Amino acid sequence: MSPIDAAALKKDFPLLEREVDGRPLVYLDSAATSQKPRAVLDALNDFYEQHNANVHRGVYALAEEATAMYEAARHNLAAFVGADPRGLVFTRGTTEAVNLVAHSWARPNLKPGDEILLTELEHHSNIVPWQLAAQATGAILRWVPVTDDGLVELEAMSGLITDRTKLVAISGMSNVLGTIPPVAEIATLAHDAGALVLVDGAQMVCHMPVDMAALGVDFLTVSGHKMLGPTGIGALVADPEVLDVMEPFHGGGEMISEVFPDRSTYKEIPNRFEAGTPAIAQAVGLGAAVDYLERIGMEAVRDHERELTAYALERLPKVGARVFGPADPDLRGDAVSFWLEGVHPHDLAQLVDREGVAIRAGHHCAQILMRRLGVPATSRASFYVYNLREDVDALVEALGKAKAVFE
Ligand code: PMP
Repeated sequence: MSPIDAAALKKDFPLLEREVDGRPLVYLDSAATSQKPRAVLDALNDFYEQHNANVHRGVYALAEEATAMYEAARHNLAAFVGADPRGLVFTRGTTEAVNLVAHSWARPNLKPGDEILLTELEHHSNIVPWQLAAQATGAILRWVPVTDDGLVELEAMSGLITDRTKLVAISGMSNVLGTIPPVAEIATLAHDAGALVLVDGAQMVCHMPVDMAALGVDFLTVSGHKMLGPTGIGALVADPEVLDVMEPFHGGGEMISEVFPDRSTYKEIPNRFEAGTPAIAQAVGLGAAVDYLERIGMEAVRDHERELTAYALERLPKVGARVFGPADPDLRGDAVSFWLEGVHPHDLAQLVDREGVAIRAGHHCAQILMRRLGVPATSRASFYVYNLREDVDALVEALGKAKAVFE
């Protein structure tokens, strides 16, 4: 039994009522982006209809309201992930958050021979910014292997962490395999060696309870659009002491204190890292998404998705699909990648779309992992609070029909 009433929650999502070519939509691509509940759509509308003004500037009532709403969203999200709001910088999402750290922390702090540790299951967002930083500083990337069933090899990791390691950057939940690495344990290993830890929280913050203080990590990234919020908003959540001594990222209005012909002084954190007009309405919308998730409870979200994932892991092999990633639902989240022999994932995604089932096919921005798995691409189904067992059944049925076409 699921701990939440997903059928009732589903009614909060207007888009999920629509049909595709006369068939009910079965949306199984929340790892790419989640759908939005009416509470978030209403918050966006209300902001533009009643409160829209630029933030941190005007002294008139409307500007003060907009500023208060924007800052309330910051506090809301910080509390949601157990962090200090002074360390929470709004960004466009995880990609921008990782790039912020790669610019403002890595470039000034790394020297030739220093090492950044990554795992083979990282998303390109948590790879390419480090390659650029390494090229600029002479630092070296080291790779922690994953096992055949997609677990991070902890023993290998502890062997790779040395006094040359300056940063361990790791996904909190794999967008391909669902793998949930033991982040707190990894943070202890890294800190004991004097390295900082960044967690790519794109898939983690939306699917399980996260307490940054308990995890003991230095940086956590958030993708608003994957946690029922609008696109174009997310965050870098950092230890304020680390953030405070980092160099600015983007320069411009709103991040300065005083500007002279030859130099400028900067605002306190976090505003120092938010140059220009921020995504105000989107931040307010993300605050509403946080409220919505808190009403459900993140433990319940995790339990619901664990149950749904276990059901998918049981049913998919019956139709001949080879499922990648950890077999134990306790060690993984909701992203279920699989391979159906004889059908390329792209063809498969197109065929099941004819049945109204939306799944993702491709390398999922994880080409290093695809090479490790020995496949060019996978098909991936992913779940969220509005998915039901019937959605898994619909997928399995559509896969059966697709297979028949190729046989
Ligand atoms: N990391 C992971 C694990 C992801 O799944 C994604 C989104 N596909 C990203 C990073 C990129 O996040 P964003 O879209 O917020 O930039």
